[in-house]
Amino acid sequence: MAYQLQRGTYDAWGSDAMNLKKLEETLSAIASTFGYVPIKIPTYEQTELFTRSVGESSDIVSKEMFSFMDKGGRNITLRPEMTAGVMRAIVTNKLYVNDLPLKYFYCGNVFRYERPQAGRYREFSQFGIECVGVNSYYSDAETIVFGYNALLMLGFPKIILKINTIGDQQSRDNYKVALKEYFKPYLESMCDDCKRRYETNVLRILDCKSPEDQKIVANAPKIQDYLTDEAKEYFQKVLDILNEFQIEYEIDDNLVRGLDYYSEVVFEYHFISENGVNLGALGGGGHYDNLLKEVGGPSLSSVGLAFGLERVNALLKELDPCCYEKPSLDVFMVHMDEKSKEHAFYLASDLRSAGFIVDMTFENKKMGAQFNIATRKNASFAIIVGEQEIANHTYGVKNLKTQVQENVSYEDLVDYLDNHLEEEDHHHEE
Ligand code: AMP
Repeated sequence: MAYQLQRGTYDAWGSDAMNLKKLEETLSAIASTFGYVPIKIPTYEQTELFTRSVGESSDIVSKEMFSFMDKGGRNITLRPEMTAGVMRAIVTNKLYVNDLPLKYFYCGNVFRYERPQAGRYREFSQFGIECVGVNSYYSDAETIVFGYNALLMLGFPKIILKINTIGDQQSRDNYKVALKEYFKPYLESMCDDCKRRYETNVLRILDCKSPEDQKIVANAPKIQDYLTDEAKEYFQKVLDILNEFQIEYEIDDNLVRGLDYYSEVVFEYHFISENGVNLGALGGGGHYDNLLKEVGGPSLSSVGLAFGLERVNALLKELDPCCYEKPSLDVFMVHMDEKSKEHAFYLASDLRSAGFIVDMTFENKKMGAQFNIATRKNASFAIIVGEQEIANHTYGVKNLKTQVQENVSYEDLVDYLDNHLEEEDHHHEE
């Protein structure tokens, strides 16, 4: 029986797996320059953590959670996002007694029972940052700038930054009253989700993707008209900083984001390729005030964002398939008989200790077949080991791009490879 890949999941290997890994490394390195440190949290938590924090009105909680009862009768959910878990970890470990703000970055798989389509999986990975315990528009702006610059550094030529404010509590309370009044006469004709959102969190109707409902949403009251002076000023300060950095943005009145915990500034990053490929948001985030308190900690303002790595990866690949990294080797060992195989085996080990990426086959293949493997595996050099080479302590080193072969002694091997690989890198960069 052949087992099937589960709907909405994927396997990645070779260059895709490599590039996903590299994304994590690059984003981690960039986050570190902002003073973020890693945090690692469990893949599952008690279900209530998510229902309380992400919110009953969100699609995530109402329809998309992978929940189950464990053998001890506990109600468990595979994390559908990471922020709630990070907050729980901060409370569990009383991390808030440290100097604030706490700045953590994370990377891990999250699970949402969504309808799979391009750029939408049921298990996918998110890289994100959370800055907890600071109420400053500088911190919000810094987070937005981090995300924007990180995407440019990864290779996106430009990014569409959508931004909005959903105001402070008072602004939202006033706005919600106005929205309820506005939507009431239309509600009967709207989708079931909107009917539910009307009761649980009317703001979320603005996010409805149904074309019919969008027509109704288009004429809905705008948050701008309900903002308190403080919320207006706060938003403007964030925009001022973006202007200072010459970061372009679009103010999107309907951007409310899918999770209930946000307040004030919310934002998303989008990219549409030249071929019109649009996988939806590459990432998004916002400011939140009550989440830590909601999960049992002190009331601390925070801001965070998360990228979906599969979407980032797919679009980077579409942008520049050639530069997309492929697995490669520095050296492939080519041997002629049992004795040279053994010699090559130990020589490979020496070269690895010197930092080179080295592989070989342990099968008894003809030299031609071994060279073919070397080429398929993207090796820069082949090192040929035979009876004579062993006797002379000198090997044939063949550059597989230029086909130039030179004899190099054991003592000179590391320097030779170092120099020539450096040259190759240099050519590659040019
Ligand atoms: P969210 O927590 O919903 O704001 O998601 C943050 C980012 O995760 C999004 O901007 C996407 O890039 C990514 N993402 C969300 N849902 C999915 C999914 N089902 N499959 C792949 N990526 C996703």
